[in-house]
Amino acid sequence: MSGSDERTGSMSDDTLDRLLSTEPGRTDDQGEDEGKSRQLVGDVIVAVDIGGTKMAAGLMTMQGELLDRDQIPVDHRLSADGLFNSLHTLVNSQLVRARDHHHMRPVAIGVGCAGPMSRGAETVSPINIHSWREFPLRERLVAGTTLPVYADLDAKALALAEGWLGGAQGKESFMAMVVGTGVGGGIVLNGQLLDGAEGNAGHVGHIVVEPNGRRCGCGSKGCLEAEASGNAIEAITGRPPSEPTYEIMQRTGRLVGRAAASVCNLLDLDLVVVGGSVALGFGATFFNSAQETLDEHAKLSFSRGARITPVRLGDRGPLIGAGAVAVRGMHRARRAARSQQ
Ligand SMILES: [Zn+2]
Repeated sequence: MSGSDERTGSMSDDTLDRLLSTEPGRTDDQGEDEGKSRQLVGDVIVAVDIGGTKMAAGLMTMQGELLDRDQIPVDHRLSADGLFNSLHTLVNSQLVRARDHHHMRPVAIGVGCAGPMSRGAETVSPINIHSWREFPLRERLVAGTTLPVYADLDAKALALAEGWLGGAQGKESFMAMVVGTGVGGGIVLNGQLLDGAEGNAGHVGHIVVEPNGRRCGCGSKGCLEAEASGNAIEAITGRPPSEPTYEIMQRTGRLVGRAAASVCNLLDLDLVVVGGSVALGFGATFFNSAQETLDEHAKLSFSRGARITPVRLGDRGPLIGAGAVAVRGMHRARRAARSQQ
């Protein structure tokens, strides 16, 4: 899957040509719906980000610019179908805004969703959305919108976004982490986003950082997620992570730095970008502590000097990442169609 023959010159650097080769403005079904699309000035992806506390949807151009966005809280009292209906309403309102307000043509839906999931989000079972267990998210979105739907884990989507347009731009190999309600991660190695057998590669939240630590939702003990996620912090301190003490900000940074060091040593990485409400909310105290711990534990010739930095796309990252999942999916589908000709 070298993809080197697929370069289009539309992107500035080689890594991203391979990661996310785009052909702006081109779609495979340009001719259809002519009368209506004549007034539409370009293509957009409907980007959807699904987390444990909120669902967001937005419109992204093929160049990664967000034109519109909206969000709703996740109502945990709703049934699986009820929750999907609220997501469907949100997505539909963006589809309408794409055509009526922005005069753009929606060509695909890209989804970043909390995990775990089966490959391509055929079914999703987000740990923090209890009503969705093996919920057929992709199929339901296809049925509800008649657009192609491409989906992946939210943290992997974020890795695509940060590698494309954010803090890891131009890097061949790096990890992106989300430290928020839960802890997730996505790894780009030699220019490729790692999938693993079931698509769940990068679950850095389940690296053990405290042997004999707290029981984790996964069944193990002392996982990073069981010690450093927003949920864990609230359980440990009795306070929401938005009201942290200095000690808890330092400790959280230390634990994240510990996990980051293990991954940098394992995979020969020198950059970890971190987003998520907890990490970004704790700010410099968190990042200084994480860097200090990373320095203490990344001592091999190739991992020494590895850096841990905040994501650069801020709160746009998850939606741009979801959009990037669709751009990548469309590119792959086009390549597969071409190879069958
Ligand atoms: Zn775990």
